[in-house]
Amino acid sequence: MANSRFEYVKQYERMDRLLPETYIVIRIDGKGFHKFTKKHEFEKPNDLRCLSLMNAAARVVMSEFTDIVLAYGDSDEYSFVWSKSTELYERRENKLVSHVCSLFTSAFVFNWPQYFEIPLLSLPSFDGRAVLYPNLSVLRDYLNWRQVDCHINNLYNTTFWALIQKGGLTNTKAEEYLKGTISSQKHEILFSQFHINYNNEREIYKKGSIWVREPEDVSAPSKNQKYSTKQKRKMGLRLLHVSIIDNEFWNSRPYLTI
Ligand code: ATP
Ligand code: ATP
Ligand code: MG
Ligand code: MG
Ligand code: MG
Ligand code: MG
Repeated sequence: MANSRFEYVKQYERMDRLLPETYIVIRIDGKGFHKFTKKHEFEKPNDLRCLSLMNAAARVVMSEFTDIVLAYGDSDEYSFVWSKSTELYERRENKLVSHVCSLFTSAFVFNWPQYFEIPLLSLPSFDGRAVLYPNLSVLRDYLNWRQVDCHINNLYNTTFWALIQKGGLTNTKAEEYLKGTISSQKHEILFSQFHINYNNEREIYKKGSIWVREPEDVSAPSKNQKYSTKQKRKMGLRLLHVSIIDNEFWNSRPYLTI
């Protein structure tokens, strides 16, 4: 391309290369989903259609960007964990965040009719941010934080909506009723008043959703081998609803962290 006297303005752009050899986590979150879920008459506390749609959109992102090793989602958010050695777009933050955000959003909109009969009545959008984690221990704590958040919110929401839907309380009364209660008390309310054993609730609600790239047979003798980038590209994507806090998850998938 021919240079022009205007080209100097390029120098005003900011360098935004993310620190090498660190885990990049890109988290997206739906804008104003509290309102969005009301408008589209979501089932409360958990609308499985939307969780499935979120998972489908995350799958599109993982298929497109093969340097993403794992994704964790619940509610209206998803976190994408990149291989710490990725050099995609020279690790430029704006490129990575904006691509993930816009691809996720368009996949969400594109796939909406597969999950909902009601048409989209407003245009969903998602914000996005990148955070760097310097080692596996902090990365795991980040994911633990999100999964614990999912659990706490779900226990609260399950109890809150049981009080309203089954107990006939108003939103305000239910909120007052739950104020200051600890976890065990919410379990007790669910069990004694509504015969709900929280432990029997769906795993997707309690644990959220995890996409991993996984070899066909995880129990094969090659379980502990390091996989090449090319091999990782060929792996299938698997959706799980398990604890990522437990060591077991990481011990059985050493290839996730290299
Ligand atoms: P912000 O723009 O700040 O993110 P928000 O309204 O999206 O605002 P969040 O903290 O992100 O606020 O909360 C998401 C909201 O969407 C919560 O109220 C949550 O209960 C609701 N929500 C998200 N997914 C579902 C779902 N699958 N079923 C029912 N409710 C959902
Ligand atoms: P990158 O992902 O790096 O942006 P790109 O293929 O999108 O790669 P650009 O430099 O953004 O490259 O160029 C956009 C391309 O799309 C050009 O080839 C341009 O001719 C083509 N293009 C964009 N809009 C139109 C249009 N309205 N009609 C015809 N061609 C178009
Ligand atoms: Mg928020
Ligand atoms: Mg939100
Ligand atoms: Mg949210
Ligand atoms: Mg372009």
